[in-house]
Amino acid sequence: MERIDNYHQKRLLFEKGVITKIEDMNEIEVKKPFKGKAFYNPSGKAREYSYWACNFYTGCSNDCDYCYLKKGYLKRTWTPYPKLKRCFKDEKHAIACFLLELLINKKSLQENGILFTFTSDPYLPETKDLFLEALIICWSHEVPVYTLSKCKIELILGPHSLPKFLYPGATLTGQDNLEPGAASNAERIKSIIENHNHLFKTWVSFEPVISFQDTLEMIHQVRDHCELFKIGLLSGAKYNKREVRIFIMRVLEMIKDKPIYFKDSLLKKAGMTREYLPKNCVGRNFKLHNEE
Ligand code: SF4
Repeated sequence: MERIDNYHQKRLLFEKGVITKIEDMNEIEVKKPFKGKAFYNPSGKAREYSYWACNFYTGCSNDCDYCYLKKGYLKRTWTPYPKLKRCFKDEKHAIACFLLELLINKKSLQENGILFTFTSDPYLPETKDLFLEALIICWSHEVPVYTLSKCKIELILGPHSLPKFLYPGATLTGQDNLEPGAASNAERIKSIIENHNHLFKTWVSFEPVISFQDTLEMIHQVRDHCELFKIGLLSGAKYNKREVRIFIMRVLEMIKDKPIYFKDSLLKKAGMTREYLPKNCVGRNFKLHNEE
């Protein structure tokens, strides 16, 4: 096994075209968490969404009022439109890095899947082409792809096997007024239903929950059309413990036979622990691609 320092050396040689055979990169031991140009292992709250993620762009024209990218140290790179990350020279370079990092981490990516994306939206007109290129690479290497979007999720009707490795997800908050550049929540629901009708295993993230009542109404609309529900609160907002508990109980009454992931911070606010929840309340390691 080569050491991590050789990874950086080899990577440079690959980018300069000195190493041309990608197989030469395969035996490299890579430290975890991995932090490449395209791929990385998210930490903290983002880790609850995925073990692997890919960000090509920073900034997002959905321009949500509550976007975490507008806060703290991330504010420095925020723009109300997507910008290719500065570590990439151009899109061609981005996709070359993507392929390289995929091959280095292929086994783990095949096991865990990858999420697009935490720092923008993969279905924006400016980001979609690069995402589709990456999607085709993932498909050819049997890496499951999860997407999370506030756009109309275009139906990607490709090869017959596509629904087996693409898991389209939508964020639903019910607050169109706080998401001025995004598709309406009603349009996102329609996209989820349409994709599900075409045999995609769709999923929904109800995060941030801003209104319990709105969230429950949207769960009612999509519960027969998606296969996984992730639910989280608005970071930094105050919630009443009793109301959070009642909300959890109502969600459990509505979804009895499909997996629900309540984020750690939500359970903490309710003073509850995962082990006392019903069996369909899964942990962070639950993967749709491992389900029949
Ligand atoms: S969709 Fe996500 S990344 Fe884009 S502005 Fe909204 S919260 Fe931020």
